[in-house]
Amino acid sequence: MSIYGGIEAGGTKFVCAVGSAPDDIRDEIRFPATTPAETIGRAVAYFKAQAKKCSPAAIGIASFGPVDPRPDSARWGYITTTPKPGWSNTEFATVLQRETGVPVGFDTDVNGAALGEYRWGAARGLDTFVYLTIGTGIGGWGMVNGALMRGLLHPEMGHILLPPHPDDPHPEGFCPFHGNCLEGLANGPALEKRWGQRAETLPVDHPAWALEAHYLALGLTNIIVTLSPQRIILGGGVMQQRHLFPLVRQRVQAALHGYIQSPQILREIESYIVPPVLGNRAGVLGAIALAETAAKS
Ligand code: ADP
Ligand code: ZN
Repeated sequence: MSIYGGIEAGGTKFVCAVGSAPDDIRDEIRFPATTPAETIGRAVAYFKAQAKKCSPAAIGIASFGPVDPRPDSARWGYITTTPKPGWSNTEFATVLQRETGVPVGFDTDVNGAALGEYRWGAARGLDTFVYLTIGTGIGGWGMVNGALMRGLLHPEMGHILLPPHPDDPHPEGFCPFHGNCLEGLANGPALEKRWGQRAETLPVDHPAWALEAHYLALGLTNIIVTLSPQRIILGGGVMQQRHLFPLVRQRVQAALHGYIQSPQILREIESYIVPPVLGNRAGVLGAIALAETAAKS
């Protein structure tokens, strides 16, 4: 069995690991994301040391973004226009490739998480699904007909435009680009700005959650009618509020109004809109799944 390396490259910390599957992570280290040179240097040093023990067949990087994941681009493997100070236009995947001499897979953190869920989690066996993260931002990725979604750049499902709810005290929304897009109405910071307290501290019976479920359900409805996913996985900090799941499912059914005649939506929606299975290991496992894909290509 092949062993792979994975880098979960987050804006605040990096996790590097070697292994082949969720039950086979053989080594792991974590360190803060400081400067690009120091942080990427530590990752390179880690994999050079690991290569002496287990020679990973490939390395996968699931990175905070935006990134350039297009294989035919001159800037493939770069972190591009990130607001993280000092990290704009950072050469990343090519450095690992050059220094370790093994193939490197490179994609966004959420695409990595989607691939990890496809390989070992909630999307196993499907060929068209969406993984949506509801956190500091809202990002949606996944597969269509068995291939990770790409295109011009990559999908930006968080920026679907939505009609504001008449009872929303901030119907203008908070996205600096669009105001009332899904992200501008329903990410963690929007909850905090609308209600004046961090989303984590809003009690379960607060009206914030009915409105949140309303917006998430509108976003999901648009995704369902556009891509016809076989399942939607909802992750990210805000979805730690597990009571949102039944609210979102009911509202999706109400919004679709019987139009999509599929048992998954009409009767089995509990297994249609679901939390991720890999939990807080999704990042590093997603990176390992990217490595596995890179080794095959
Ligand atoms: P990031 O998107 O930055 O990678 P998260 O997915 O944890 O990280 O998202 C952070 C956002 O999610 C913050 O706006 C925070 O208020 C919110 N959040 C984190 N945990 C919870 C929770 N348990 N309940 C509600 N909101 C949460
Ligand atoms: Zn937007």
